[in-house]
Amino acid sequence: MTSLRSTRDSSGDWQSRSFWLEDRSYKPARRLAGDEMADVVIVGAGFTGLWSAILLKDADPDIDVVVVEQKVAGYGATGRNGGFAMTMVGRSIHDLLRKVGPESAKATHMAMRKALREIESFCAGEGIDASITHPGLLTVSNGPEQDVRIHQDLLAAERLELDDFHEVPRARCRELIHSDRLRMGHFEDDALLVDPAALVRGLRDAAISRGVRIYEMTPVDGVEDIDGRRVEARTPFGAVHADRAVLATNAYASSAPALSRFIFTIYAYIILTEPLTDEQWSRIGWEQRMGVEDKRIMPHFHRPTPDGRILWGGRDAPIAPEGPNPRRDRNPRIFSRLEETLRWSFPQLADVKISRGWAGPVCATVNCFASIGFLGKSQRICYALGYSGHGVGPSYLAAEVLRDLLLGSNSELLELPMTTKRPIPLPPGPLRPLALAATQRVQNVLQRADDEGTDRGALVRLAMRALQ
Ligand SMILES: Cc1cc2nc3c(=O)[nH]c(=O)nc-3n(C[C@H](O)[C@H](O)[C@H](O)COP(=O)(O)OP(=O)(O)OC[C@H]3O[C@@H](n4cnc5c(N)ncnc54)[C@H](O)[C@@H]3O)c2cc1C
Repeated sequence: MTSLRSTRDSSGDWQSRSFWLEDRSYKPARRLAGDEMADVVIVGAGFTGLWSAILLKDADPDIDVVVVEQKVAGYGATGRNGGFAMTMVGRSIHDLLRKVGPESAKATHMAMRKALREIESFCAGEGIDASITHPGLLTVSNGPEQDVRIHQDLLAAERLELDDFHEVPRARCRELIHSDRLRMGHFEDDALLVDPAALVRGLRDAAISRGVRIYEMTPVDGVEDIDGRRVEARTPFGAVHADRAVLATNAYASSAPALSRFIFTIYAYIILTEPLTDEQWSRIGWEQRMGVEDKRIMPHFHRPTPDGRILWGGRDAPIAPEGPNPRRDRNPRIFSRLEETLRWSFPQLADVKISRGWAGPVCATVNCFASIGFLGKSQRICYALGYSGHGVGPSYLAAEVLRDLLLGSNSELLELPMTTKRPIPLPPGPLRPLALAATQRVQNVLQRADDEGTDRGALVRLAMRALQ
């Protein structure tokens, strides 16, 4: 049996987990009550689980799909993220090219561009109001070592003959965003900003309207492959007996031994300002209201929210060897470091107050690549996880791949590296905590190198070679 541990959060309070989830009028769907049959049971109602349910139904309306969620749709990373839907798979376009070669890198990038267009048109077609904008992504450099990384991306884009990456010289960068820290950057046309909780709730409704049965507040304790002929997803309130199962549990899958071999949990943190006045916005420009990332090894990301705040996240990403743990959802030390960098970038916003901070579990893999596949030879249980902090857009592509795997379609998406590239395993047993502790130490060194603006030092050089 693939045993799953549900969240240690017994509070029933999902609303405080992020700014996006705050809406107290949300009514969870009912719990599972007793046993049910289905063709496909999906565990987890984040982007991966709900896109999978919708795409399966759209491909075959007769397929009977049940989604089981331990808390509410979007309770995991989906309801807590920055809302950047990007083409990025891996750490950057340069990283993607380096890891999978030109042909697969281009195919992945083009599939991601298409996925973003489909997210946009699906929401328009369904009338989902997720405050979706298409302002592009500005990636900026704050130091000479970051200039190098910007140029590496631009070279990779040129080599792949991509027409959606553009160099942004210093003057233009500072015209777009009034910060003296900006040295240069690149701009990518195809990137969306979304309200992730509104999107996931819209997906939940779209799934229900297609006949998908969704049970919330229903933790799945385990999924068993019964003699390779069917599966059983067991919960305290009953079981779902199905032909196939999808594990869309992301970081929470770290309790499943077959998956924890190659994933680990890190925490990502975000702070949010109060809404800025028009006058305060005019001090920093940012008229296109695009998403922005810097090119630190452990990057910052920032964006305007639909109600005129600045969302500022990234930097510290501590490893949680124990897996998702709600005690890590708040960390005043990390929040105040984020505030420091916000003030450093925009000293002209000294009068703008921070209103709150939150965090969520990110499912990471050693090479920052998502992984999609089957567990076991009977091919009855499949999974998609490990987006390594970049799953808002890629979860749509992953759901397309899951659909094609489950329906046995002979699709070219099955040739993408997300499916074909074998994940790098972590050392087993007692060596795992040691490997994670060593990874955390390397991360700390990289963090310091970021702060000091240097790629120097033997360990930094070694880690950078592994990453770049
Ligand atoms: C703070 C933060 C900022 C981020 N910012 C961005 C960003 O701007 N752009 C980007 O692309 N990515 C970002 N990410 C990553 C992105 O949010 C994720 O990659 C994406 O949401 C993954 O979706 P998912 O559906 O696979 O997983 P999740 O959203 O984690 O969903 C898993 C679901 O499974 C449920 N579940 C788990 N175990 C069980 C069980 N036993 N029984 C029943 N249900 C279960 C959980 O409750 C959860 O709802 C960020 C992540 C965080 C935490």
